[in-house]
Amino acid sequence: MSLESNKTLAGIGAILVAIPFLNLIGIILVLIAMNGLADYYHEDGIFRNALYGFIFGIIGAVAIIIVIMMLVIGVAFVSPVAAPFIGIGLFIVSLIVMYIFSLLGAIFYRNSFNILSQKTGEGMFETAGLILLIGAIIPIIGEVLKFIAWILAAVGFFSIKTPTTQVSAVAPPPPPQPPSAPPVAVPGEKKYCQYCGTENKIEALFCQKCGKQMIGQKET
Ligand SMILES: [Zn+2]
Repeated sequence: MSLESNKTLAGIGAILVAIPFLNLIGIILVLIAMNGLADYYHEDGIFRNALYGFIFGIIGAVAIIIVIMMLVIGVAFVSPVAAPFIGIGLFIVSLIVMYIFSLLGAIFYRNSFNILSQKTGEGMFETAGLILLIGAIIPIIGEVLKFIAWILAAVGFFSIKTPTTQVSAVAPPPPPQPPSAPPVAVPGEKKYCQYCGTENKIEALFCQKCGKQMIGQKET
């Protein structure tokens, strides 16, 4: 894929990440595009870090599902007296697991964005990565920051300069100036007859007084 397709795909993907329920599709699109961008910039870290970020996000999600399943099974089989304590315990564990993996994921996404920022010269990626990390650190309110971070990342992707615009920005060298006309042909100048010394027009072929042929050299 061309740089143009990769940046468009990544931009659309980043917008989808910001939208609930579409974020998994979005992150997969971003990953595919990041792989293309890593190839384009010859920087494997762009894709590798984004992939680690994705994997930690998936592990976090799977861990939550497992904990919820344990919760359901546990409550069903243990004594009614102990059940609430086990339930609360598992709930807290699931929150901690989700928090840690979300944070790890954000750290790797930020690494990817930082490398991308260096390679593309788009400072927007660095800002997006930082806001994403802060969003992962702050519980609940952080979700709003994550949303903003992915929108900023989308802006960054769409703003990546393609090499065609970079090439056209460099002006081609100006064409060489045509050689200036010989001074003899300049109208309005005067020359003098070599026989009688009469002043004649520069373009005159014969002397206007004696009628002899002018040699054509200028004598000022
Ligand atoms: Zn003459």
